[in-house]
Amino acid sequence: MRTITIRRALDAEIEQFRVPRGQVFIIPNRCKDCQFCIDFCPADVLERSDDLNAKGYHYAVVAEGKEDACVNCRFCMLVCPEFAIFSDEVKEVVRASH
Ligand code: SF4
Ligand code: SF4
Repeated sequence: MRTITIRRALDAEIEQFRVPRGQVFIIPNRCKDCQFCIDFCPADVLERSDDLNAKGYHYAVVAEGKEDACVNCRFCMLVCPEFAIFSDEVKEVVRASH
């Protein structure tokens, strides 16, 4: 007899999920303003700079107010053709209360 695995709804255990936090790093002079990272970021962390880099391109920057919004999905890193952007996990700091 065939057995079927029934999936449980995510919201049944939603309180157990922790949203990951990331820190995104951009190397401005590598950026060529393709905007892939801006378009693909699921958390709308990125935008174009007002300034130009050494090659004359507007480069990707973290948008104002989005400094803590990165979820470390690394999409930006995957889609960037210039290796100009990467992210790293932000570890939670647990302080002992004295
Ligand atoms: S790692 Fe993900 S959430 Fe963070 S800036 Fe890149 S695409 Fe956006
Ligand atoms: S994907 Fe890379 S090259 Fe394109 S805008 Fe973002 S950082 Fe710049």
